[in-house]
Amino acid sequence: MIVVSACLAGLPVRYNGLSSLEKKIHRLVSEKKAITACPELLGGLETPRQPAEIVGGSGEDVLDGKAKVFDNAGTDVTDAFVKGAYETLAIVKKIQATVVVLKENSPSCGSGKIYDGTFTGEKVKGHGVTAALLRRNGVRIISETQFLKE
Ligand code: SF4
Repeated sequence: MIVVSACLAGLPVRYNGLSSLEKKIHRLVSEKKAITACPELLGGLETPRQPAEIVGGSGEDVLDGKAKVFDNAGTDVTDAFVKGAYETLAIVKKIQATVVVLKENSPSCGSGKIYDGTFTGEKVKGHGVTAALLRRNGVRIISETQFLKE
């Protein structure tokens, strides 16, 4: 069993009320080979919501209290992002998932690259908050691009 970012399975949970459907991932969920999780909703945020980015570092820094997550209206949403990360980790542990497929570039789910905190579309190296927490706990995470290549 694997866990996938809910938006990749076609659920309209992104900040703008849309999904990021990948048919192969949707099929896995339909066949009950994967379950979905959206860290931002698990953290208590709603859809639609303002887009958010990590400011002052990466997801690792957020977990260490050295960076924060703000939405583009300037609201500090760090606590929701951290809560969502721990909720997602709990799901991953409960079902003993072997791998987690996470949406690229997201401040929660991004693996390898995330938006740089300026809301200009620029990206920097680093992980989102949930991706960072899963990595710290030894969970194998991959992006949808990696997954679709495998
Ligand atoms: S938090 Fe993750 S699962 Fe939820 S909408 Fe953002 S990228 Fe998709």
